[in-house]
Amino acid sequence: MTYSVTPVGFVHSCFKEKFAIPRQPLLAPAARGVLELAAPFDKGAAVAGLEKVSHVWLLFLFHQALEDKPRLKVRPPRLGGNATVGVFASRATHRPNGIGQSVVKLDKVEPGRLWLSGIDLLDGTPVLDIKPYVPYSDLIADAQNGIADAAPELIPVEWESLALRQAQAHSRRLGQPVTELIEQCLALDPRPAYQVPQPDRRYGVRYWDVQVRWHYPEPGRIRVLEVVQAED
Ligand code: SAM
Repeated sequence: MTYSVTPVGFVHSCFKEKFAIPRQPLLAPAARGVLELAAPFDKGAAVAGLEKVSHVWLLFLFHQALEDKPRLKVRPPRLGGNATVGVFASRATHRPNGIGQSVVKLDKVEPGRLWLSGIDLLDGTPVLDIKPYVPYSDLIADAQNGIADAAPELIPVEWESLALRQAQAHSRRLGQPVTELIEQCLALDPRPAYQVPQPDRRYGVRYWDVQVRWHYPEPGRIRVLEVVQAED
């Protein structure tokens, strides 16, 4: 049996590549995006009442990780990339039907447009459905997860003084919290866990239209080297 689904909209996100996106939502409050609703949901009627809601669940497609062959086991990055668990014990992107779900902050509602923050979604992500967060039911104070039992540990992020000035200038130009976005995302240490970072190795990612470069002066410490306009 197959079913077909149609996106209700697409996300314009600060994240332009899969690398250095937080692995779960709400870990980087400065991660912003706009969900552009597609017809017929681009009318005010479809979002009426949503202004009373602080957070929404998004069901979406991992459109850049879709695969034909189903996996039964996956290697969650937070287990260091070595240990495997059953696909249904993990929220890895490689999964049957390629469906992701994230609870994100709803900052503003307009007909045809939802302004979001705390997202973990790649630019262009197709959204299949939107549902309001319902605290009395969704908040499970005594919930347990022995695989992912605590938020990831944050590592210190330092700045070259020029890089900090560059980030602040791009924040002003874009009207976006670029400096905070970089600090919050890099503090989560996006490097694959199996790589031991060498001080001379440079890492980079594009957020919005800027290219961020950093290195690890020593394992567990990041120094941002530059924040420059990305080349298209
Ligand atoms: N919160 C969601 C969930 O639990 O289903 C996503 C978790 S998944 C581990 C988060 C990662 O998915 C991000 O770090 C990013 O690299 C990747 N990602 C986000 N949007 C994507 C997309 N549209 N296609 C492929 N990968 C995506």
